[in-house]
Amino acid sequence: MAADDPATRAQPSSTTERNVKHVVLGDLLFQTWYQSIYPEDLVSKDTDRLYVCRWCFRYSCDEHAYAKHTRLCPHRKSPPGVKVYEQGGYSVWELDGEHHKLYAQNLSLFAKLFLDHKSVFFDVVSFFYYLLVFTDPADPDSYHVLGFFSKEKLSWDANNLACILVFPPYQHKQLGKLLMGVSYKISAWERDSGLIGGPERPLSEMGRKSYARFWEERVARHLLLHGWKAEDAEEAAVPQKSKSPKGPKKRPAHELMTVQDIGLATGMLTEDVITALRGLGVVQPATPAKKRKSKDSSGATSAGGDSIVTIRKTTVLEWAKSHHMALWDPVKDEGFHGKWAPTDLDEESNGGSNESGDG
Ligand SMILES: [Zn+2]
Repeated sequence: MAADDPATRAQPSSTTERNVKHVVLGDLLFQTWYQSIYPEDLVSKDTDRLYVCRWCFRYSCDEHAYAKHTRLCPHRKSPPGVKVYEQGGYSVWELDGEHHKLYAQNLSLFAKLFLDHKSVFFDVVSFFYYLLVFTDPADPDSYHVLGFFSKEKLSWDANNLACILVFPPYQHKQLGKLLMGVSYKISAWERDSGLIGGPERPLSEMGRKSYARFWEERVARHLLLHGWKAEDAEEAAVPQKSKSPKGPKKRPAHELMTVQDIGLATGMLTEDVITALRGLGVVQPATPAKKRKSKDSSGATSAGGDSIVTIRKTTVLEWAKSHHMALWDPVKDEGFHGKWAPTDLDEESNGGSNESGDG
């Protein structure tokens, strides 16, 4: 498990451990981090430069063979599989490891150079792969694969992701969060066929930190947009006082929600919601209801049983600001294609309206 949070980036393992020291991916040259398991007859134990096709991940130690291949690569115009998501130049392509076995194997071999897995993950037929692709609008005929995640076709633990990697040259751009967000959407927990799940455990140290941040933002975003039933979260940073809500019922001084409620709304496992709430540092012991003053709008969250805590909106907002969190989810529902396309677009598309959109 790896991700692209700059704070949690892995250090390359020592040179002697790595069979391939550098890779050339398209016109990019960069260092590897870990040992991969390329066949030794094709890639010697002491390879300084491995040339990897940026479209299909075929590899060669020979620069001329590589150059010849890139002129003929069958995937130079389009990635394999089907496009399931597209937004702002970024797209996600789903491919079945069974139908694209060689591609999936070559992608896995390449990915292993940057993943510290001890286990082998080359049972490609049991997995779907989701490629993160960028297409520059100024150059629509050329595309770049920036990373991917894999997902077991049949996961008994409802894992929505097995392995994730943003390739090193494309890290520090929040793309890991985009992939994680897509993985949650594609787990389809909102639909009858879907189950609430999370990434495959155990997580690596890097994976744990990256997911902790992703979950914190996901829960913070949910709380800010829905936790206090605010129409406009920015506006709601102002104490609510006596401002009357649109609906006929008077707004309560606080909302009571359970950790399970948050999990159901965000598609997150209870344990991951708790991790996020702890990480946000917004949980305070609940004040007795009688003494509560409604100066701040606050949410009371029950973790089940008697454990009730209070979350103040202002504290969540402060966290969001200090962590430069965008209020709107980077993964847009309207960006999903085909079977993942939203079925109730009318409701979803209201999310982007601005303050003048009242009439
Ligand atoms: Zn190729």
